[in-house]
Amino acid sequence: MITVSEYEVKSLLTKTRVPAGDYVINPYAGCPHKCLYCYADYMKRFAGRSEKWGDFLGVKHCAKNINLKTLFGKKVILSSVTDAYNPFERKYKVTQNILKQFAGSGIEVEVLTKSDLILRDINIFKSIPRIRIGISLNTLDEGIRKDLEPRASPIEKRLNAIKTLTNEGIDTYIFLSPIFPGITDFREILSECKTYTGMFYFENLNLRGAFRAPVLAYIQKKHSHLMPLYEEIYTAKNTGFWKKMENDIDVFCAKNKIKYGSYFYHEKIRK
Ligand code: SF4
Repeated sequence: MITVSEYEVKSLLTKTRVPAGDYVINPYAGCPHKCLYCYADYMKRFAGRSEKWGDFLGVKHCAKNINLKTLFGKKVILSSVTDAYNPFERKYKVTQNILKQFAGSGIEVEVLTKSDLILRDINIFKSIPRIRIGISLNTLDEGIRKDLEPRASPIEKRLNAIKTLTNEGIDTYIFLSPIFPGITDFREILSECKTYTGMFYFENLNLRGAFRAPVLAYIQKKHSHLMPLYEEIYTAKNTGFWKKMENDIDVFCAKNKIKYGSYFYHEKIRK
């Protein structure tokens, strides 16, 4: 059960220090996708919500149009603490109305989602010259997807979305995030998807805050043989696993002529 409320905001734009952009737009407060590993749970206190993360949604309405003049030379990201194409976007169209405002502008816009609802807006994307669309996934195993991202789109639908967007001439990428040690098989994903898009990004799983305990409880319950590895990485703080993986990614991508970028340890990267 998700509690939905609608409210008016003065502005949708927020300056961001994340390395991928200058401004971020979160069309919704909260995220119904309810991923097990979601780091955005801390946003509850800013939204003044007491429900569990994933069980509430604030639908933002803004009477004022976005002031595009302030955004020239800047990059805008949708989104950082929600999925702009969560299932409620089908009804409320907040993201769609925001993106329409960028039509014909030279502003760089990037949308990252786990939903194939994004296909609804292909014609809008075509009207924005500098748009880029990313689909994130960290497994091709639908059972694991259901465990980790219970309300996001199934893997097959995400793969169909990225193929369709690329075929329609949209600039796309796949974001392998977060990479779960011992679970995410980057070689399998790249081998399957290398013809679906021309670019891949990688991000490792960080475990801190409120999602650390549920993730470790899940590993204990469903993948208990991996517990020693998780303790090594997240308790002993041994970085050897990630360093080896970065090197393996580099070698694999060079061999297979795959373009990629890394957001490993992105919490340490600040503008
Ligand atoms: S889609 Fe992103 S914001 Fe939404 S619950 Fe999952 S990780 Fe959190």
